[in-house]
Amino acid sequence: MSFEYEVVIGLETHVELLTESKIFCACPNRFGEAPNTNVCPVCLGLPGSLPIFNENVLKLALEAALALNCTIAHYSKFDRKNYFYPDLPKAYQISQHDRPLARDGYLELVKDGKLIRKVRIERLHLEEDAGKLMHDEAGERSYVDYNRSGVPLIEIVTAPDIHSPEEAHLFLESLRKTLLYTGVSDCKMEEGSLRCDANISLRPAGTKSLGRKVEIKNMNSFRAVQRGLEYEVGRQKEILKAGGTVALETRRWSEEDGATIEMRSKEEDEHDYLFFPEPDLPPLILSEEFIGAVKSKLPELPVDRYFRLMEEQGISPYQAEIITSSREMADFFEETLKIFPQPQTVSNWLLGDVSGLLNSMGKEIDEVAFTPQHFAALLELLAAGTLSGRLAKDVLEESFQSGRHPKEIVQKKGLVQISDEQELLRIVDEVIEDTPNAVNDYFAGNKKAVGFLMGQVMKRTKGQANPQLATKLLQKKLKQLEK
Ligand SMILES: [Zn+2]
Repeated sequence: MSFEYEVVIGLETHVELLTESKIFCACPNRFGEAPNTNVCPVCLGLPGSLPIFNENVLKLALEAALALNCTIAHYSKFDRKNYFYPDLPKAYQISQHDRPLARDGYLELVKDGKLIRKVRIERLHLEEDAGKLMHDEAGERSYVDYNRSGVPLIEIVTAPDIHSPEEAHLFLESLRKTLLYTGVSDCKMEEGSLRCDANISLRPAGTKSLGRKVEIKNMNSFRAVQRGLEYEVGRQKEILKAGGTVALETRRWSEEDGATIEMRSKEEDEHDYLFFPEPDLPPLILSEEFIGAVKSKLPELPVDRYFRLMEEQGISPYQAEIITSSREMADFFEETLKIFPQPQTVSNWLLGDVSGLLNSMGKEIDEVAFTPQHFAALLELLAAGTLSGRLAKDVLEESFQSGRHPKEIVQKKGLVQISDEQELLRIVDEVIEDTPNAVNDYFAGNKKAVGFLMGQVMKRTKGQANPQLATKLLQKKLKQLEK
């Protein structure tokens, strides 16, 4: 008897919005400041304080919902989700229960130039973040920081449309990219501004009903999400193969153990939150015009840009994927093309040397002084033969470091490729005369000696010799001598 299972995954993602202030008070929304410095009676939940809704939160949440193709509710409202926990000073969280801001969206997953899955978004709602608990190493004391209390969040809930751990990873990458394009969040998983829990179950392949699902928490990176789910697929498969039943429970991913560990059973987890409408906040009533105005300002989204660049510029799926990995990178590419319209050359350099320099500096393309104008000028100098590939790399690096224009660098340093035949011939003669051993090696049949001799030519010209021409001249000269 064979055991063929289909994996079914749904994700719940919490995303902090990049507003100046918190969702219901004027405290700054900033990460990494001294504990309990960005707090006030509202976000500390002191009696008598009243929340006031931050309109910017609504705009950013709408942008996110529209970028995820959701239908926006013209009427939505806030509810109190009641539970007690030390990081929640009011003992209730203001969230949205039965009337969320948005529903019925989707996110398209693409790979190798093709649409591979459309993951439905069931709902997207607004809520406030809780504070943060920190436990000391000895396990004796816990501390609470309320700076995060009241930070605006959106919760994005997918349908169970994801069918492998790799797909879950791809979904998160795509979600992150989409949200970064719209600028609603910085989506830093390491700072907790994007957090993800997963529901996973297995069912016999070909069947429709859902298996018993397990919720996994505490996955702190995209990689951890994939690994946690991979572990869980294996664990549930073993149980089902042995004829057992998967327990309904919440498990946590432990990076140290490389395993998921039981936290609590679902029965314990099924709190009755006693949701009820938040009496201190009015409902959100949105007009079609308001929604339309937000929609009209949305940028082109990564999936659309990916397909457009492949079609318009003829670049490969791989190139398109890297170029559209951030809005800034894609802008840089297209700006350069306006001046230097050779997509293959631009993308080769962008993915090669430019990305290499960015990686070594640990910076993003919009954080360096090197501009599309600089880039286009450099490629023009290369195309005109003024610079060799080798010199172009040097000029690129210098322009990256100093922010100076490539033309200026070339002029100041006299870095112009030597393509003058007479001058190159003179240098070739010099090298042949000065390195008789290498020349004899060549005559003795060691053709690799040419490489050494070319190295000498490049050294004497400080890398400025036109390599094709110099090689040709050197080989011609050696052949003459050999006769
Ligand atoms: Zn506050």
